[in-house]
Amino acid sequence: MSAKAEQTLVICGHGMVAQRLLEKLVAQPHRPFTRIVVFNGEASPAYNRIQLSALLAGDANEDSLQLQQPDWYQHNSITVHQGDPVTAIDREERTVTTASGRTQHYTSLVLATGSRSASLGLEGEGLEGVMGFRDLKDTRQLIHT
Ligand SMILES: Cc1cc2nc3c(=O)[nH]c(=O)nc-3n(C[C@H](O)[C@H](O)[C@H](O)COP(=O)(O)OP(=O)(O)OC[C@H]3O[C@@H](n4cnc5c(N)ncnc54)[C@H](O)[C@@H]3O)c2cc1C
Repeated sequence: MSAKAEQTLVICGHGMVAQRLLEKLVAQPHRPFTRIVVFNGEASPAYNRIQLSALLAGDANEDSLQLQQPDWYQHNSITVHQGDPVTAIDREERTVTTASGRTQHYTSLVLATGSRSASLGLEGEGLEGVMGFRDLKDTRQLIHT
C-alpha cells in the first residue's frame, strides 16, 4: 500500500487529550486508520500534567506521571516522534512538516496542541528565575533552582 493510499491519522501534540483519543481509537473493534503518527513538541511521552504540582511538591515521581508504558505505543502500532513539533501544515497536499524536517502525509489531522504559559507583560518578567510552570521541563528546572 502506498503511503498516500493508507488511512493515516496524524496527531499534532501528545498531551492528555491526544492520549485519551489514542486510547479510545485502539479500543474500537475496527480501527478506522491503518496508520497513526503522533508528533510531540515535548521530549517526554504523554504524562499527567495535572500531577506536575505533586511532582514539584515532592509528592509524586516522574514515573508515576506516565500515562502509558513505552511499549504500549509499539504494541498498538502507533508511531510517536518525541521532541519534533509540527512547524507547517500544507492543507492542499495534506502534509505536515516538523522542526527536524520530516514530512508526513495525512488523511485526517488532529491538532491537540494545548496551551502555553501566558506572559502578563509585567515589569521584571524577564528577570532570571522568573519562569512559567507548564511542563515537565519547567518542573525539573523549578525543582533544581
Ligand atoms: C501545573 C498544572 C496543574 C494543573 N492542574 C489542573 C487541575 O487540577 N485540573 C484541571 O482540569 N486541569 C489542570 N491543569 C490543566 C491541564 O493540565 C490541561 O487542561 C490539559 O493538560 C490540557 O491537555 P491538552 O492535551 O489539551 O494539552 P497539553 O497537556 O498542553 O498538551 C499539548 C501538547 O502539545 C504539544 N505541542 C504544542 N505545539 C505543538 C506542535 N506544533 N507540534 C507538536 N506538539 C505540539 C505541547 O508540547 C504539549 O506536549 C493543570 C496544568 C498545569 C500546568
